Amino acid sequence: MKFENKYSETVKRIKSNLIRELLKTAGDKDIISFGGGIPDPETFPIKKMSEIANEVIMNEYRVSLQYGSTEGDPELIKQYIRLMEEYEGIHGLTEENLMVTTGSQQALFIVGTVFLDEDSYCAVSKPIYLGAGSAFNQRNPKYISIPLEKDGMNIDYLENELKKLDENGEIDKFKFVYTVSNFHNPAGTTLSLEKRKRLIELAEKYDFIIIEDDPYGALRFEGEKQPSIFKLNNGERVVLLNTFSKVLSPGLRIGVIVANKELIRKMVLAKQGMDLCSSTLTQRIAARFIEKYDLFEEIKPTIELYRAKKDKFMEALEKYLGDIEGVDWIRPEGGLFSWITLPEGFDTMELFEIAKRKKVIYIPGETFYVDEPERNTMRVSFCLPSFEELDEGVKRLREAIDEYAKE
Ligand code: PMP
Repeated sequence: MKFENKYSETVKRIKSNLIRELLKTAGDKDIISFGGGIPDPETFPIKKMSEIANEVIMNEYRVSLQYGSTEGDPELIKQYIRLMEEYEGIHGLTEENLMVTTGSQQALFIVGTVFLDEDSYCAVSKPIYLGAGSAFNQRNPKYISIPLEKDGMNIDYLENELKKLDENGEIDKFKFVYTVSNFHNPAGTTLSLEKRKRLIELAEKYDFIIIEDDPYGALRFEGEKQPSIFKLNNGERVVLLNTFSKVLSPGLRIGVIVANKELIRKMVLAKQGMDLCSSTLTQRIAARFIEKYDLFEEIKPTIELYRAKKDKFMEALEKYLGDIEGVDWIRPEGGLFSWITLPEGFDTMELFEIAKRKKVIYIPGETFYVDEPERNTMRVSFCLPSFEELDEGVKRLREAIDEYAKE
């Protein structure tokens, strides 16, 4: 049978995930990979988690093995409200302000479903988190791509774009700004306090919503913690997306949306048609985990490990790439990523083939754009390679760069 004429326009628009393709071709174990943006499995609290999982199945099976509500496990929501108070200083939330999702990836999909139509506008960073692009693309919106600077989105640029939309009488179609506020994926940047405040001012002036995606905020290894945009705005027009993926385990597939209760009600309706409810089993495991253990104490050693790896990585970048004119990279204060910009004229997709031969890989930056890509960029993650590999990997990257420059 020929299936082509059966497909929806939406699915025809979906391109294959380049990251997966690239990483697949480079599965060789001699390869040093700066590609994967995933936590080190050795950091998972295996013993504690398996004890809790056992208890949750044996003693709470009536809930943990049953369907649950679309809004999420009330025990998890109760514990999460406590975490938000203790660690984020966000007070006054009730269960009506929260919804549990199947990872924040589902939250992004729900955001697309709830806010975007084909003629809607939304502003995203340039580069953008790939998964957000995939989720929003399904609604086929019009993107306004805002360049990222070292302290986050260029707010002047955003303001200018909003002014233009206003002048053209289209500002009503502008729905939201999507931002990864801390330790951006892929760019490693953090939105400064001043820019957070300016973003809220613009949101009030032009009446839009802010989607604050914050999977990495708890993984700060240096610098001063910034209040979330959600907190700064008292949650009025900010939808905060959090996840357990980077602080406990991505295998749980648990995200949490925190927002105005009217928005949560709409999001619950959207989620009902997607999966009825998120896994009741992993929600209850997460609830009991954060009830019994101090999550932020638990992840301290992980953060310390990432900090040390980041330092080693920055040292290697300086040592091997420091003398190349026009090269630059982000020094992240937390999270898993840095972003390297090579001199104009480099194409990191072409460089990838040479690098692979030299047995080092990264993610070419062009994957992270919803419009015209900057081809001389790459995402590099420092959390998985060993200390020796971090040094050796950047050395190999330099060799690849030299070879590319010669060609
Ligand atoms: N947002 C960002 C910025 C991410 O980096 C990720 C994970 N890579 C997600 C959302 C999705 O995370 P999860 O679905 O595992 O919660």
